[in-house]
Amino acid sequence: MQPSPATDLVLLVDDDPVARMLTASVLTQNGMTVREAGSGSEALAAFREHLPDCVLLDALMPGMDGFAACEALRHLPGGSQVPVLMLTGLEDEESIARAYEAGATDFFVKSSQWTLLAQRTRYLLRASRMRQELEQSRATLAKAQRIARLGTWEWNLPSDRVSACGICRAIFGLPPSSELLTTEKLLYRVDPADFPRLRDALMRLKSGAIPINMEFRVRGEQGQNYHVHLEAEAECDSAGRAALIVGTAQDITQRKLAEEQIKALANYDNLTGLPNRRLFSERFNAAIEVARLHSGRLAALFVDLDRFKQINDTQGHSAGDSVLCEVAERLNRCVRGGNDEADVVARLGGDEFVVLLTQVAEPQQAHRVAERILVALRKPFNINGHENFISASVGLAHYPEDGLDVDSLLRNADAAMYSVKAQGRNDVRAYRPELNLADRQRWEMERDLHKALEREELELHYQPQVDARTGLIPGVEALMRWNHNGRTVPPNEFIPIAEENGLIVPFGEWALDASARQASAWLRQGLGPVRVSVNIPGSHFQKPGFVELVRRVLERTGLPGHLLEIEITETMLVQDIATTLVTLKGLQEMNVRMSIDDFGTGYSSLSYLQRFDIDQLKIDRSFVTDIDTDGGNDTITAAIIAMAAALKLEVIAEGVETREQVQLLQRRGCQMMQGYYFSRPLAAAKMTALLVEVLKNGPPMAWRFSDVGKVLTLVSGLRLASNG
Ligand code: C2E
Ligand code: MG
Ligand code: MG
Repeated sequence: MQPSPATDLVLLVDDDPVARMLTASVLTQNGMTVREAGSGSEALAAFREHLPDCVLLDALMPGMDGFAACEALRHLPGGSQVPVLMLTGLEDEESIARAYEAGATDFFVKSSQWTLLAQRTRYLLRASRMRQELEQSRATLAKAQRIARLGTWEWNLPSDRVSACGICRAIFGLPPSSELLTTEKLLYRVDPADFPRLRDALMRLKSGAIPINMEFRVRGEQGQNYHVHLEAEAECDSAGRAALIVGTAQDITQRKLAEEQIKALANYDNLTGLPNRRLFSERFNAAIEVARLHSGRLAALFVDLDRFKQINDTQGHSAGDSVLCEVAERLNRCVRGGNDEADVVARLGGDEFVVLLTQVAEPQQAHRVAERILVALRKPFNINGHENFISASVGLAHYPEDGLDVDSLLRNADAAMYSVKAQGRNDVRAYRPELNLADRQRWEMERDLHKALEREELELHYQPQVDARTGLIPGVEALMRWNHNGRTVPPNEFIPIAEENGLIVPFGEWALDASARQASAWLRQGLGPVRVSVNIPGSHFQKPGFVELVRRVLERTGLPGHLLEIEITETMLVQDIATTLVTLKGLQEMNVRMSIDDFGTGYSSLSYLQRFDIDQLKIDRSFVTDIDTDGGNDTITAAIIAMAAALKLEVIAEGVETREQVQLLQRRGCQMMQGYYFSRPLAAAKMTALLVEVLKNGPPMAWRFSDVGKVLTLVSGLRLASNG
């Protein structure tokens, strides 16, 4: 029968079957499972077959006796751990001694005290289990210590000898051995820089029982440094004197490396390895503290690269990155480095660098460093075999004149830098309190404008272009807005900046795509056809690839060409006639319409209007504004309308604000109008709602002027009649 694993298995070995039976029954009654064997050799076989928890072994048996059997089973697998209870004769002192020699755990004098035997067996089993558990937990501890690289050591003070476990010896760079050590030998490899600290701590522990908890370095054999964490406490004798010092030592090199890495990430710029803003502020603060105590002077330089974006855009980011690294090196070469009071160069992000000068005898000195930086950064940067030129704008602020803390000094150096940018770049300027705020705002705006697209801050509003006879909306003009810092920035504030720095091209691409997508959506929703007009500046229109761009937009959005209109200004038309003609032809092939915006304010020549295939003229708002009060404007407007009619061009008036203006324009023959009278530019959702409304209920009454013409004819007819 297989013994049940829940109960203890006892191997009972006795050549006397009666004694065996009696013993077995008592043990079984006490909850143990018994396996019987009648001889020493039978016992070994049973042991091999199934490892028992305990062996009861009769000492005297024919053949292999209990002593021999005990010795033999101690050599079997698992045999060294199993408790063996030797059953001996009464008062047989010699047998008792022999039993221990043979490896028995304990002995029991054979008698009829069965209960006692059962209890003894149970005790042995319990002791054996506890020992096993202890061994297991020791093994676990050792494993944990090995994994944690945590060793233990003991310093016996009276004998002045140290015992250290294997891990501990390895940590201190010693070969494995069980010999006792002197403290000198144990601490032989401790870094000389850290040794005095450790020695003093040990002395304090020895004399005053002050526990140690410290870190130090140990030099490995190959010269590498280990970081060790050591903890130790004293155990005192009855007189209160330290007698034994017990401690641990842990190799914390990995943790230290991780900590250093984290520190580097938190304090240094990844790309250039320069200190970042955090570390810079820390150093700056410390320098201010020193300067305050010694009435010293400091200077902060704000360095911003001038043409960095161009390199990034035209040659890719990795080229930009290598420029930044090179800039970092050049800046470092312009300042004093080395000791604790060295100047600090840091990167704040993007192409912004700052320099802290710590020993500034007089203001001119900082100026000279700034000049040196300008010269250094003007030299060409060699990237992928190409020479690139950038320059820098540098702003300068002095401690204590321009500020007493890091924030105000940096802010003021920054403001000085902005004013350099505004005045044409590539220069250095010191902070003055009256520095122009407008310069700064404009520069900040320009900087943020670069991020407008990726931050999805641009938005299109749509202004209806109304047919005043019917009040219907054949088209809309897409007008760009910039949602910046919680404000809706109108285009006249940011379009000129975008035109200057070239951002207008990506902006225009975005506007074409977004408005075509919108018009295409209206068409699909049954709200169209609504034509959408997009403003494109000359610099974009004349760029090679513009026609291709429009073609892609139409393909992508599925918008028919005749529902897209490009608005350009008339001055642009005459700038590069050859290119313009080619572009116009390309657009015409796709049925894309052309409209001349702000007509009347520019060149206004009939001759080129005839040469180019234009669809529409847009009468500038300035003529419309006081058309009903200014006779001159009325005349110009009438002339434009007449001219358009002669050239078979459509005409639209913009900036129409009053009922009177509508009526006057209608009388002059202009039916298409755009202006606040009808609607302000609307966000896409509102524009959609308006289209839905017009589709459902027809145009607002105020938009329908079909009767006006009739009434006017009527009135003039009456007038004629009365005159006649
Ligand atoms: P624009 O193309 O002549 O656009 C007409 C401007 O007149 C719009 O100003 C519009 O809101 C405004 N307006 C319309 N009706 C009235 C009215 O009844 N009274 C008055 N006082 N104003 C009226 P907005 O949206 O501020 O745009 C100004 C200029 O910015 C535009 O003049 C255009 O040159 C430029 N712009 C707007 N969006 C874009 C764009 O997406 N790309 C480019 N390149 N330029 C744009
Ligand atoms: Mg326009
Ligand atoms: Mg206009």
